[in-house]
Amino acid sequence: MSFIEYNVDNRVATITLNRPGQHNAQNAALLKELDEAFDRAVDDIDVGVIVLQSNGKHFSAGHDLSDDVLQCEPWSTMFDTVEQEGLTKLYKWELKHYYGYSKKWRDLPKPTIAAVQGACIAAGLMLAWPCDLIIAADNARFSDPVINMGIGGVEYHAHTWEFGPRKAKELLFTGGFIDANEAHRLGMVNRVVPLDELHQHTRTLAEEIASKHAHGLLMAKQAVNQTLDAQGQTSSLQNAYNLHALGHSNAWVMEEQIVLAGLSEMAKANKKES
Ligand code: ZN
Repeated sequence: MSFIEYNVDNRVATITLNRPGQHNAQNAALLKELDEAFDRAVDDIDVGVIVLQSNGKHFSAGHDLSDDVLQCEPWSTMFDTVEQEGLTKLYKWELKHYYGYSKKWRDLPKPTIAAVQGACIAAGLMLAWPCDLIIAADNARFSDPVINMGIGGVEYHAHTWEFGPRKAKELLFTGGFIDANEAHRLGMVNRVVPLDELHQHTRTLAEEIASKHAHGLLMAKQAVNQTLDAQGQTSSLQNAYNLHALGHSNAWVMEEQIVLAGLSEMAKANKKES
């Protein structure tokens, strides 16, 4: 694996994003490795809890929007392809790799904990939110600036569930940041700890949970997730994904420049996160 580290110790699997030079920006290979690591942890009978963390200053700057990636699939075909082929390709790509992975990880049959430091931007949220618990360092901050692309939020649109409707709208409208303490106040984050204690604190909590009855943990997780589903979470996430795709469609049909300008603005913002 090139972009992540994987380790199992004392019934805790730790998956570590390891692209600190790119602020753990997510490219297709990283997402594939991450998904394989989650599968491996789920299949390992010696793993009771899965921790997702990052090396470097920032948890994740979102999707990799570097010039290289903009030349790659599916973005390169989005505007170039005649008829709707490019758009359909993008829809299917994001359905599987962005919305689909996040939804799959949300439903993994073992407890998951994200340990977040520094910036957690856009697709960074799509790694943290699917986890059952989120431990934030005191320097963590969260943002979805996708409005700049003419789209109403990232593919896994859990903002309303995570922030509540008013704050979700404020953050989506402004593309602004929320800090660790406010995220904690709103219930998006379980605990806020000093940055230098983040990984040890998370490990201690993970080991405590991993010592509990595995089937009991699964039933507890299912009970909460099914309650969210009874409230409509999964169907609203699916609907919001289609609204996200509609944003891409509008851009594809008439406003390519808005998307490209938004992408380059977000890429610049990502680069500033150092
Ligand atoms: Zn998208």
